[in-house]
Amino acid sequence: MWRPSGADRGRAAAGVRHLRVHRRPLRRGGARGVSWQDEIRALLPAGLAWHEPVDTLAYRRDTSIVAPGHPDLVVRPLDAPGIGRVLAAASRLNVPVYSRGAGSMYAGGVNPHAGGLVMDLGGLDRILDIDTVRGVVVLEPGVTFGALLAALEPFGQTIGIVPSTGAAATVGGAVSAHALGTGSPRFQSMGDQVAGLEVALADGSFIRTGSAAAHGAGFFHRYAIGPDLTGLFIGADGTLGVITKIALWLHPLPAHRETACLGFADYPSAAAFLGELQRKALLDNVWYGAGYDAMAVRGRLLGADPDLDPTALPRFMLGVDYGGDADAVARDRTRIEALAAHYGGQPQPRFDEIYFHNLRRDELYWYSYAGYFAKSRCAMVMASFATDTLPAFLDQAQQWRERHPQFTWASATVLCRRGLHGAVLAFYDERQQWPEVQAVIAGCTTELMALGCVPYKSGKLWAAEVRKLTEYQRAVTRIKAALDPAGVLAPGNLGLDAR
Ligand SMILES: Cc1cc2nc3c(=O)[nH]c(=O)nc-3n(C[C@H](O)[C@H](O)[C@H](O)COP(=O)(O)OP(=O)(O)OC[C@H]3O[C@@H](n4cnc5c(N)ncnc54)[C@H](O)[C@@H]3O)c2cc1C
Repeated sequence: MWRPSGADRGRAAAGVRHLRVHRRPLRRGGARGVSWQDEIRALLPAGLAWHEPVDTLAYRRDTSIVAPGHPDLVVRPLDAPGIGRVLAAASRLNVPVYSRGAGSMYAGGVNPHAGGLVMDLGGLDRILDIDTVRGVVVLEPGVTFGALLAALEPFGQTIGIVPSTGAAATVGGAVSAHALGTGSPRFQSMGDQVAGLEVALADGSFIRTGSAAAHGAGFFHRYAIGPDLTGLFIGADGTLGVITKIALWLHPLPAHRETACLGFADYPSAAAFLGELQRKALLDNVWYGAGYDAMAVRGRLLGADPDLDPTALPRFMLGVDYGGDADAVARDRTRIEALAAHYGGQPQPRFDEIYFHNLRRDELYWYSYAGYFAKSRCAMVMASFATDTLPAFLDQAQQWRERHPQFTWASATVLCRRGLHGAVLAFYDERQQWPEVQAVIAGCTTELMALGCVPYKSGKLWAAEVRKLTEYQRAVTRIKAALDPAGVLAPGNLGLDAR
């Protein structure tokens, strides 16, 4: 059972919210005096489980501000049957299981708050099939985006979304957290690129979703047979099963890519333009689109060009990454810029040159705020909201900037096919400001909900708010009870506790 340390208690006293602990003990000993750790260890080949604190240290947390957990055991299965054996035993022994890809998320989903075991899925890293006839790639969950894109390139193929954390993040982690979903107005979200899954359930059995549910049919259609079971596991943060295989749609690499930027004098004009852009379906050749408030990027711009007049910067900048046939890109760009002009939007070639084009070239996009990551840690909250909520979201971010000047604040908005995703980022000094930033970010999630924003990539960061969504939570709790009756899968994630 996770118990607060002295430092954690200090944070609680400072008003920092903690996850509820379980109502009943989750772990119990193994049979005949054998510890549960030894029982589970015996299910895997030698060398694939470890428990010494020095070895489990790296498995306590992800990149978020969510409090670390303490794993009692880490296992690194190398195949799906090994995962099934471990899950069946964990259910029988009441041992919590936290799946882990690269641990790069900023929502605490991998943090083992209830102790138990962390399942490191990095060992399942094979690309199983690049099927250019069916247009799908089938892979294991531990494959990184960097490895996947490199493998697809010789085939002239890609997966349609832009992996900002490509080198490290695993496909399994991104699907389970519904991360990288911000990647593409053209292809919408990570989840929309999933053709089907194989999932190990808590009892150690396996299901395949979509067309692959029919034996021998394979992955070629997601919406087949009955309800969309694939969607059940996307964004579930490991609470309903462990993803052991993923089928993603393939798309041809675009023949041509170029970037362009637009500036708007105020947030309402920008929001009105973006809404019109989405309604007019002008996004077919837009692979990525991101909005920045001037405060978030002006340091970077002035660093590159000290002669720039900061007061002349438009309040809202939009960077657009076009991809497709060169003629189609030219046509759409002309139409988009004409539409922008109607809302007072002006091309910003200097911003593109200094900032956005470089992010595109390095596939870094919107988190690369002037090297802050090298200097301090970043607390991130992501939310989804309707396009017309953009002004309220950005005004709110500005209020936090003024209210908490001890942190460096930034915000960014990502263009989707419909609606927007927004991120608020607070850069902080981990040695001195961690409890403080935790409390501030907890307040931010509450205020975002009050604005009509909804949690995106929930993990544990949003757990307190997700719990307040009573009907939603009741439905998910019922599904979880059916799939994970012992409540061992990722307790605490999505606000779901053990029953
Ligand atoms: C610097 C930075 C920049 C980023 N930029 C972007 C961006 O531009 N756009 C964007 O959308 N996202 C972005 N992200 C988020 C990024 O996409 C995620 O961090 C990443 O996809 C998570 O992959 P991971 O392998 O690290 O997953 P982990 O952090 O290991 O896991 C994420 C969640 O999935 C669960 N999980 C992992 N593997 C499995 C499995 N096989 N089965 C079931 N559950 C599993 C874990 O329990 C956890 O809840 C960024 C993150 C960082 C740190």
